Amino acid sequence: MAARSLTETEARRRAEDLQVQRMQVRLDLDRGPKTFRSSTSISVEARRRTDTFLDVRPQALHSVSVDGNDFDPGLLAEGRYPLALEPGVHEVQVEADVAYSHDGEGMHRTVDPADGRTYTYLMSFMDAAPRCFACFDQPDLKSRYRIAVRAPADWSVLGNTRATRVGDGWWELAESLPLSTYLVTVVAGPWHSVTGEHDGIRLGLHTKQSLAGALDADADELFEVTGQSLDALHERFGIRYPFGDYHQAFVPEFNAGAMECPGCVLFRDGLVFRSAVTDAERGVRVNVVVHEMAHMWFGDIVTPRWWDDLWLNESFAEYVGYRVGQEATRFDDAWVDFAYSRKRWGMVADQRPSTHPVASNGAADAHTALSDFDGISYAKGAALLKQLAAYLGDEVFFAGVRAHLEAHAYGNATLADLLDAWERAAADDVDRGLDVHAWAKAWLRTTGADTLRVDGGELVRTASDGQAGVDRPHRFALSRVSLADTTTETHEVVVTADRTPLPVTSGPGHALLLDTRDDAWAKLRTDAATYAALPDLLPRVADPVTRGAVWLAVRDGFDDAELDPSWVLNLLCAVLPHEDSDVAVRSLLGWAEVTLLGSVYGGSEEATDQLAAAIAVRMRSAPPGSSLQLAAARGLVSIAHDPGLLADWLAGRAPEGLAVDTELRWHLLTQLCRWGAAGRDDVDAETRRDRSTEGVVHATRCRAALPDPEAKAEAWRILTTDSGASNYELYAIGEGFWWPEQQALLAPYVPRFFAEVPATARLRSGWVVAETVRTAFPAYSVDSATLSLAAGVVADMNVDAAARREVADTADTLRRALRIRDRWLT
Ligand SMILES: [Zn+2]
Repeated sequence: MAARSLTETEARRRAEDLQVQRMQVRLDLDRGPKTFRSSTSISVEARRRTDTFLDVRPQALHSVSVDGNDFDPGLLAEGRYPLALEPGVHEVQVEADVAYSHDGEGMHRTVDPADGRTYTYLMSFMDAAPRCFACFDQPDLKSRYRIAVRAPADWSVLGNTRATRVGDGWWELAESLPLSTYLVTVVAGPWHSVTGEHDGIRLGLHTKQSLAGALDADADELFEVTGQSLDALHERFGIRYPFGDYHQAFVPEFNAGAMECPGCVLFRDGLVFRSAVTDAERGVRVNVVVHEMAHMWFGDIVTPRWWDDLWLNESFAEYVGYRVGQEATRFDDAWVDFAYSRKRWGMVADQRPSTHPVASNGAADAHTALSDFDGISYAKGAALLKQLAAYLGDEVFFAGVRAHLEAHAYGNATLADLLDAWERAAADDVDRGLDVHAWAKAWLRTTGADTLRVDGGELVRTASDGQAGVDRPHRFALSRVSLADTTTETHEVVVTADRTPLPVTSGPGHALLLDTRDDAWAKLRTDAATYAALPDLLPRVADPVTRGAVWLAVRDGFDDAELDPSWVLNLLCAVLPHEDSDVAVRSLLGWAEVTLLGSVYGGSEEATDQLAAAIAVRMRSAPPGSSLQLAAARGLVSIAHDPGLLADWLAGRAPEGLAVDTELRWHLLTQLCRWGAAGRDDVDAETRRDRSTEGVVHATRCRAALPDPEAKAEAWRILTTDSGASNYELYAIGEGFWWPEQQALLAPYVPRFFAEVPATARLRSGWVVAETVRTAFPAYSVDSATLSLAAGVVADMNVDAAARREVADTADTLRRALRIRDRWLT
């Protein structure tokens, strides 16, 4: 039976009525592949007489007792067990058998096909703790935990605190500091572990045995970054890391990038690199490592009272992750990645139907709040915190944060509490003239982005639709660049009105580049002379952050059908041969493949060949073995319509320095399948070479990509009817299914997508539902009939809310592609 999502009203009442004093959880994981035994003892104090409920989602509930009196397990309904409590302290005991999950939430269990070993981990976020143990599942009912786990003899057990083997297969974890339910984890399996130490803190890295070599190869780098980040955060936050050991477990089939469980962070194991990766990807991993560590303070020591403030956790961790990654480690491309990738993610999200204020006006229940974990909560929030830190200055910014952490340590707080802390920290600094609450109202409580457009000698500010009365201040750098020798003069611009005189205009022989440090959150439009000069100028702009800011504005103008796609394609082809940032190459080619070539050009041979030629120039001139060569090579594999080249590389005839390793082999084979130049036998042969979980997922993607009716039918059957398929298999099918050149074969599946995929919410729950809709959306079916089908789903209130939202958003991208085609390509 589906669980009912907790509402804020219910949570508020429960927090008023109850105080959880202690949680004791015993998990027997040695009872076969389907279920585990979960025994929970809760010490809970009722502050007054209350009719309340416990959250638990077992397969079989065996017993419930309160103060030794047994109650009927049959009273469990929709994941809630009713409790009537008199004032005072009570002992609640619950015994249940709980099912392992395969969707990355709750107690996930997976068997590695590489060696038959079994791994489990508990992902409690955001409301999945009751899929493991009985609890009062909300962020502001914190408790200390004592957890015991029984596991097979060859397993090891990790968790929020240090685990000790005590005999009979049982492990006991030391009592924890007060934790929210969503932060509790247990990680159990025959893990491969590497241990270390930094500044008195024990460190551990863990992953499945089949990735042992890859983890060992990266352990030094991971430990170094972990140590550097701990030092930097100790200095910034002024509170020493309090949760004991610091484990980082890279676990299979994880939905998110990572999860900040105190003492034992969970990461997706794709972040253990088993094949060659670019420095850009290593840099992204560093940002994830620091992001999760920042949560130890922001989220774990002080936790939002309710889910509507969880954005603050993410914005803060994202901002600190990029900043400390850049400042404290040798990976100094963090802000380049932010400009090219993260801000693009946020700007797109902020212009979609589902846009919402950064600080939302109240997530009614937990289920709704999950959908708000998007580019707005992460990237826009982080960009705004970056602005706020610039306004306040580091000293005030971090003094406010420290005061906030100290005031609410091991408890919960709200946005208003943090704003007050900043206001107090800024009080002595009267010259700064920033009203923190007014700033928060203008930026955190509004949606969308202003357009800032150069118009003669002025910058004209226009708020997005439906935002009358919004008055957002902007502050950023603007550069006048000589086209002859790129000599640059930079000016600071402050926008506080709808028309602002520019300090300088482009003029003859010059261009005007806006937001050259990438500080603004706005849709930027420079003047016509600058656009005309960009194909010649942009390859000569030295700062990759500035180039990223220019591309953010160009892609935004493209989305709005203001810029001719053939001009954008020419700009990309002019820039690529000179682009020396692997971050840029990766971001631009990923976007070009799906959006520019796929959705807008419909896979046109001419446009494809033009871009492939430019990528080939970049690849051939990159140093052999470099990140740049790998980034360009991958782009070429994805984009070029050249099965001969793909087959050559797969046979080992690749350019000098390019390692055709396991991951690149699968990438080549996926494209060969897509073009019909490889078949099932080739996929089977590759699977015999790579028997890992990753191999299974890649093979699933390859088979879904084959341009043959039987392969499509089989992929569709799994996608829409198989409740046992793993989350990663479903995403692989979505990614492999649609190709621009397969439209005729795929036409029947367009209406079937809208009829069947959103309805998979009946088969599956949580994260996987929306993610399946997003990855399996027919993105290349750019026509009004598809938009009508999408509108039908969006209007159907019987469809799962998260699925409807995802359809509305992805259809908006399709609507934009159609508008670009109508305006420029017909
Ligand atoms: Zn986070």
